[in-house]
Amino acid sequence: MSNAEIGLIGLGTMGAALALNIADNGFDIAVWNRTTATTHQFHKDAGDLAARITPTDDLEGLVAAIKEPRAIILMVPAGQAVDDQIKALRPLLGEDDMIIDAGNANFHDTNRRAQDAGDLPFLGIGVSGGEEGARFGPSVMGGGKRAHWDRVAHIMTAISAKHNDEPCATWMGEEGAGHFVKAVHNGIEYADMQMIAEIYGIMRDGLLMDTAAISDTFATWDKGPLRSYLIEISGKVAGATDPKTGKPMLDVIVDAAGQKGTGRWTVIEAQHLAAPIPAIEAAVVARNLSSQRDARAAGEALFGPAPHRFAHDMMPLATLEEALIAGKILCYAQGFGMIEKASKEFGWALPLPAIAEVWREGCIIRSEMLDDMATALREDPDRNLMTAPYFADILKKTHGALRQVVAHAALHGLPLPALSSGLAYFDAMRTARGTANMIQGQRDFFGAHGFERVDGGSGHHGPWGS
Ligand code: NDP
Repeated sequence: MSNAEIGLIGLGTMGAALALNIADNGFDIAVWNRTTATTHQFHKDAGDLAARITPTDDLEGLVAAIKEPRAIILMVPAGQAVDDQIKALRPLLGEDDMIIDAGNANFHDTNRRAQDAGDLPFLGIGVSGGEEGARFGPSVMGGGKRAHWDRVAHIMTAISAKHNDEPCATWMGEEGAGHFVKAVHNGIEYADMQMIAEIYGIMRDGLLMDTAAISDTFATWDKGPLRSYLIEISGKVAGATDPKTGKPMLDVIVDAAGQKGTGRWTVIEAQHLAAPIPAIEAAVVARNLSSQRDARAAGEALFGPAPHRFAHDMMPLATLEEALIAGKILCYAQGFGMIEKASKEFGWALPLPAIAEVWREGCIIRSEMLDDMATALREDPDRNLMTAPYFADILKKTHGALRQVVAHAALHGLPLPALSSGLAYFDAMRTARGTANMIQGQRDFFGAHGFERVDGGSGHHGPWGS
């Protein structure tokens, strides 16, 4: 029976949640999983939604269960598994049937797959929000031919998160545009998380606050300008107790952060684009560094622990909050700056305001501030977000706090890689005459690279030999 509106391959964490979300929104869906037992268990556990779900045991059965022209979502690990599934599926599909890779693909792979597909319908879709988002409303960033997106847009918008009734699902552009935007989202997520962790470090080691007080502080900040999913969960994480030992949960978690690589892809791509995203780079570096536990312990044994403790009156909590506000704006300014650069470089016309809108709900970086960012980008998508009047006003009020926090942390040996690089970015971006004249002089000295003069003309050389 070819009744299903759409098909889905890969009933892991994300695929299972997405399939239930699709069924929950009234669409019949056919599913297939490499391990057949998982398919049947999933169907058995689907409760009332089982009636809308057709479990299938092989790809032929899956294809046969879907209405023509078909659309099949892949929710398998990024990389070879996606290529293998496309290779296995294509011979079974008609020329109007569409494959949708909804995993976390590297956008270069999506570009290649879109080119390989030629006229055969193919979309690369970034889905954010983890398991909960996939089940109850993710943020969806679509990429591929607009006509192909339009064919499934009704399903994508129905299953997506909603912000004031507006769906958080948008077509971003051709080929890998959706996966590119998702990668930058993840890069911003790394920096946002890292900045929060750095402020947690000041509260813990600089101000000697206990986890309950830290939890309360995040909960309070979640009612103000920092209101966001990440601040909310940071408060909950800080407030949790380990059932095994009765200690604060944070105290029993090893300080080595994992990563699946999407932050790294963003940083590598930013280097290719010459797009400055230092806070995001610092956050990726911080994760790499966090995993070097033995080396860090050896360093502490050699140099001794830094004198972390601040005098209490040196750092009011309101100053930490303002520093985090400034850091967050600078981190997003960098992320949107990278998107704008990529948009021009790849000829994508990426819709910056719509990107901010699509991130307002359903994804990990959802926050109150994104609403104002969408407004600022709608006014002028080409300008650096830090110079948009609304955010410039906030930065004028808060960059002093960021400076104070970074300076005190440096004096007390507390590493703040993301916040301090955010501050350096701010200072660089408000310095009309920087120091690269020295770099140009050096380059001309050893390599005769030539330089521009302030009084006009290029290709000049200095009197180095005389
Ligand atoms: P899981 O590991 O939970 O599930 C993977 C699924 O893919 C399983 O159904 C597995 O089948 C199937 N699979 C694995 N290898 C192959 C293969 N070679 N051929 C066919 N099927 C295969 O992963 P997730 O659901 O977490 O992730 C899926 C995708 O979604 C990834 O690209 C991930 O990066 C992305 N993503 C994940 C998020 C998350 O929070 N987890 C958030 C956003 C995106 P089997 O049961 O047989 O092992």
